[in-house]
Amino acid sequence: MLRIFNNDISNPDKFVITLELVPKRESGGLSTDTLINIAKDAFADGRVSAVSITDNPGGNPSLSPDVLGYEIFRHGMDVIVHFTCRDMNRAGMESRALQLARMGMKNILALTGDYSGKGFGGQGTPVFDFDSVILTKMLHKLNERLAASEDPDGFFTGCAVSPFKTTEAECEAQYRKLDRKIEAGASFIITQLGYDVDKFQELITRSSIKGITIPALASVYMLSPKAAKAMNRGKVPGVIVSDSLCNRIIKEWENSKQDGLHNAIERAARLAVILKGIGYKGIHIGGIHRSFKAVGAILDKMAIMEHNWQDYVEGFRTEDKNCFYIYRTSDSKKFDNAIESIISKDNLHTINETVVSSSKEPVTTIENLKENLLDHYPYLLLKQLHELFFNKSSSLSPVYKAFAEVIDKNNKAWILKMFIEDPSKRLLLSCKGCGDCGIQHIAFQCPESGCPKHTRNGACGGSRDGFCEVDKDKKCIWVRAFNRLKKSDKTENLSKEFVPPRMWELNNTSSWINFHLGRDHQKE
Ligand code: SF4
Repeated sequence: MLRIFNNDISNPDKFVITLELVPKRESGGLSTDTLINIAKDAFADGRVSAVSITDNPGGNPSLSPDVLGYEIFRHGMDVIVHFTCRDMNRAGMESRALQLARMGMKNILALTGDYSGKGFGGQGTPVFDFDSVILTKMLHKLNERLAASEDPDGFFTGCAVSPFKTTEAECEAQYRKLDRKIEAGASFIITQLGYDVDKFQELITRSSIKGITIPALASVYMLSPKAAKAMNRGKVPGVIVSDSLCNRIIKEWENSKQDGLHNAIERAARLAVILKGIGYKGIHIGGIHRSFKAVGAILDKMAIMEHNWQDYVEGFRTEDKNCFYIYRTSDSKKFDNAIESIISKDNLHTINETVVSSSKEPVTTIENLKENLLDHYPYLLLKQLHELFFNKSSSLSPVYKAFAEVIDKNNKAWILKMFIEDPSKRLLLSCKGCGDCGIQHIAFQCPESGCPKHTRNGACGGSRDGFCEVDKDKKCIWVRAFNRLKKSDKTENLSKEFVPPRMWELNNTSSWINFHLGRDHQKE
């Protein structure tokens, strides 16, 4: 295993540069040679600690990061392999992890992944047997086995987070999931791509307040008009490029390609020095498809600009006045003071005093009424029912257990399932009959029917303005969960515990019997 990335990110004096490469749907030829040449040039330049390679980006098939990474790795350049949960079940994922360990490639970026895109014959099956938290936990556990088999290095697993969420519920859902990822064993963070410096600062501030010490790399992207338009239209899940930024980029490239490129490099370098100034451990550069030249130019410019980074801050403030911020200084000129306060933990209360939070979700009376009828009251009902029938510390629990034992012994569980459990759970939860119920972890919503990625430990990064990446007319189930819990003053439940993957061996059996007989994931 090369330890360049691991050593650099652990070095307190080093500002780390990583570079994202995106393989195409070819096993060789120009596109693959170009990526290998970029990696070789990055290695020769010496300022890049690792290249990261995407895993079927957008859910569309492409050359595997494992094979491309291995080729790059053998040239001496360290590699971070993106590892998503979309295309394989847990057996395939564990096997892939063992293969990567055998190849020596143990820097992993663990991701839930975009939803399935199109392959041979149409759209593929979205697997999502795990979410990114469970994947991180699996890699963490595998490290124990690697150590036992005398492999000196374990996986060095990182996670992604998007600070660029516009509503309180989405922000909280993202950050609570980040907490779970860290708890599960993530050792570094790479942010989603964005252009709002206050949001970048929000992540740093929160990490400082929460005592999160793992290093964070911030994404910086070389925006071309094509990429800017796609991101502006929401075609890249979770990425926001505002109308004004998109129009500015189109104009810049209209004059001449050279002007466009110059401005893209300038913008990336300006953002990068701000990110260095506010305390990110490094930057993760994306949007490099042709040559290493632009990366070299960004890094050269950074060296010139970095001492005046405060001068560029105003150029990266959002125009969206309704965007929600957990922490924001009331006066933009206080930005520097706030950062100093963050760095000196003694003054953290000072930041809180200057907080201005705004919500993107103005609620009218009719909306309120609708939300109460469709969301809050069903939640309260389910919560009461759960307390009554599925609380293992209640006095009635032994009675339910005895009843479950009797009907299970007599093979009559199907009667309960068919005539009571299935109809009621279908009506209230659109239940899919997985037999290993997880509704209590998501404010009494079903992760099988409610979330296209079946997430059990928090929101994926793809939601936009509170709506689901996949079912765009439905609110993300984690946004709904936060709103439900907020009304009951129980938002701490959103990141309460690690939720294991569903037990597929229980599919189509009675979850009620499984619970009371201790067969499901909640067994003690
Ligand atoms: S419901 Fe939320 S977590 Fe699930 S796929 Fe949609 S946006 Fe992602």
